[in-house]
This record gives sequence, structure tokens and C-alpha cells, in this order.
Amino acid sequence: FEPWNDPAANPLIQFRNVTKRFGDFTAVDNLSIDIFEKEFFALLGPSGCGKTTMMRMLAGFETPTSGTIMLDGQDISPIPPNKRSVNMMFQSYALFPHLTVYDNIAFGLKRDKLPPDQIDARVKEMLRLVQIEKFGQRKPEQISGGQRQRVALARALAKAPKLLLLDEPLSALDKKLRQDTQFELMDIQEKTGTTFVVVTHDQEEAMTVASRVAVMDHGKLKQVDTPDRIYEAPNSTYVADFIGDVNIIEGHGKAQGDTMAISWAEGQPPIIGTPSKPMDDGNVSFAIRPEKVAISAERPADRNNVVQGKVLDIAYLGNLSTYHVQLPSGIVIKAQTANSRRRASRPFTWEDEVWLSWTDTAGIVLER
Ligand code: ATP
Repeated sequence: FEPWNDPAANPLIQFRNVTKRFGDFTAVDNLSIDIFEKEFFALLGPSGCGKTTMMRMLAGFETPTSGTIMLDGQDISPIPPNKRSVNMMFQSYALFPHLTVYDNIAFGLKRDKLPPDQIDARVKEMLRLVQIEKFGQRKPEQISGGQRQRVALARALAKAPKLLLLDEPLSALDKKLRQDTQFELMDIQEKTGTTFVVVTHDQEEAMTVASRVAVMDHGKLKQVDTPDRIYEAPNSTYVADFIGDVNIIEGHGKAQGDTMAISWAEGQPPIIGTPSKPMDDGNVSFAIRPEKVAISAERPADRNNVVQGKVLDIAYLGNLSTYHVQLPSGIVIKAQTANSRRRASRPFTWEDEVWLSWTDTAGIVLER
């Protein structure tokens, strides 16, 4: 499922050079994105970066200052919110407290004056879909937060919208429940075939649920890609740093065929890295994930990128340990290793002299 790589695929949603200003403040800055049918698309970024504004423009609660939003090839600006085949599930769920779960889900269908037997069949189908058949006759206050989240989802899907917008859908749930619910959400999205656009500031959540992730910063789009590309091939230090843990080393790069040699500290041999795109010699940043940095007691013989340092800090994470290793120049590099049950690999402790090393393709060279 990669419609974004298929030149013949028509996007369900197209943002074309969309800008939204509030007074002289630019919340969304000349942004273009295509979102395809059946995608689970995530808008990710820190608070205030413009994610919710994007969503509200899709729903019709805000109009772009300039640019166009197309749904199914049609400009949606003249279409009022209630006439768009778009539904929104709010962060607060916004359930009606005085109605039962059943009537909450039936609400929109009743308003559309569907025949009662059709409404009943649809509500039961939705209750089954989100696995809350037993709670149909309860009021929202009589069910748990996780169950309320399901009711809100069932209600939002009842009218079978083409597009469902979810604003921080799981943020009210605790971490464990949130992780379980992520998988259920993916399952429900797949079963219904509805296009989901989710807004979140939680990197892990976006990476888990989404087919593609758009990373935003101050109203600007930094990168749109699959979760693995966002992680493995970030196009900027901003994206590399926003997703997961990363070491960023600044230096001066010189092209060497397909790789780049980066001078970065007095007395250290240059780092060899792979440029994220064709690049001229100049100031660059080298980004490498901690799990790509090997740590050893002996100097590895077979690698170009080898530095020596001292263990400064250790974070034990059960299955993994992260070592903070300080180099003679003062720079600290994080190296992460899997903790195996076998005792073969010697664990390191504070003040140990260690070697860090990585392969020529383990890190990525980014423009600075
Ligand atoms: P959060 O994760 O905190 O919800 P967000 O990325 O969703 O953040 P938006 O809600 O889209 O951010 O807001 C983007 C920027 O636009 C913010 O700085 C916000 O203060 C501003 N903004 C949003 N709506 C309005 C408005 N109606 N009037 C003025 N400024 C607004």
C-alpha cells in the first residue's frame, strides 16, 4: 500500500500552497501535501506548530488565507462543514452526557432521518466494531475513559465519512492503555477503509499508527514520509532530533565520492558519513542514532569511524542501555546497546575507557 509512489493514484486530499494567518501571525505557511484514500496520515509537531489549524481547515471550521484545499479533486472552500464527507473526533470526545452510549452513536443518523431499522443496524455494527456491545445502555459517566474514547470513535464513524480527523485521539489515556489502543485504532481504520488524519505531538504514536507522517515546525512542513524513512533518512537535524534519540555532531564536510569526510574536532580523524542529498563542501551536521554506535573495550580494527572516550552516564532501560561517552574534546556521544541475557558482552561502568565506532553508512550528513 504505497499510493504516494504511484503517479496514477489520485489523492483524496490536496493542500496546495495553503497559508493561514491570524492577524499578522502565520500559523500555516505555504504548505502543500497530498493525502491518499485509506491512508492513516499523521500530522506531527510540537505545540503551536499549526497541526490543529490544518485539521480545522479540512473540517471547514477555518478558511485558508490563501491556497486551495481539494477533496476528491474538488475545491472544498465553498462547502460548509456539515456538507463535507469529513468528520472530526475531538480531543475531549464531546459526548452528550445525558444520552446513552447507543443514542450518542445514533445521534447523527437520527438527525439525517434515516429509517429506524437502518439506524439500529448501524449503531449495533459500530458498537461491535469498537467492542463495546455491552455498554450501549450506559451513560458516558458510567464507563471508563478508554471506553468513552471508543464511543467517540464509533459516533464519528457512524455516518461512514470519507475522511475522519482525529485530534490527539489518545492523549487522555494513560500510557499502557494508549499503546494498546493504538493497535485497535489501526485495526478499525483498516476494517472500515476510512482515511484517517490524526494530529499528535507524540512521536511514538505517529510512528506506530501512521502510513505516512508529516513533520511540522512553526507552520512549515519539514518532511512527509513513511515512519521508517522519517527515522532512517531525516532530511534535516530538526526531523532527526524530533523523532527518537540522535547524536548531532557539527563539522566541515568534504565530498569523497559517495561519502563525505567531516572534520569535527582537533586531533580526531574525520568522520565518514553518507550525505542525505548531493551536497557541496561546507559546514554540515552529522546525525547518528545511538543504536548505530557500537561500544567496546578494545579498539575495533575494521572501521573508519573510531573514537575513544570515557563513560559519563548510563541509562538502564531493561532491554537496552544507553551510555553517554565523553570524548577528550568534551563532546558527549550516546551509544545504545541491547542487553542480552548472556554474560558474554561485558557491560561498562562509569569512568571506563571505551571505544565507540560505527560504519560509513550508519550516520547521515545533513545541511547546516
Ligand atoms: P497544539 O499541539 O498545542 O494544539 P498545534 O500545532 O495544533 O498546537 P495550532 O492550534 O494549529 O497548533 O496553532 C498554531 C498557532 O496559531 C498557535 O501559535 C496558536 O496560538 C495560533 N492560533 C490558532 N488559532 C488561532 C486563532 N483563532 N487566533 C489567533 N491565533 C491562533
